Amino acid sequence: MSDEVRSHTALHIIKGAIVKVLGEDAKWSTSATVNGLHGRIAVEFNRKPTDGEMVEIGRLANRKVEEDAEIETHEMSRSDAEARWGDWIYDKWPLPDHVQQVKVFHLPDWNVNCCGYEHPQRTGAVGPIRITKSRYRNSKGVLEVSYDLED
Ligand SMILES: [Zn+2]
Repeated sequence: MSDEVRSHTALHIIKGAIVKVLGEDAKWSTSATVNGLHGRIAVEFNRKPTDGEMVEIGRLANRKVEEDAEIETHEMSRSDAEARWGDWIYDKWPLPDHVQQVKVFHLPDWNVNCCGYEHPQRTGAVGPIRITKSRYRNSKGVLEVSYDLED
């Protein structure tokens, strides 16, 4: 499995941990980037998280990896996906109206997102996640979380 697939899947796992710790106010991703074993996810949020919250996000993300939880991927109509998960399948950037058939990443009780990228079958394939930096941008109301995976 490529570094990119592992790092990409970590985005979903960290996003789930962010929402577990910070709540639904942090549900909208504004960007997600991966480069080799590094990645960064940004979400809308209304304040700078505490150091304790950031530690907890890292702890929960790694616990989800250690669980080796099963990852589901679905291909379904957009309307069926919306009926099941509402706007949780979306990010801040729009999915074009003409897209009516979607691929959905679903890690039950953790993260669901329209995503056509490749993923492993279980979370354990990602390996340990180290959150290297978090930055809260007051002007944008955006929290950025950077991480590294192990080689
Ligand atoms: Zn994905």
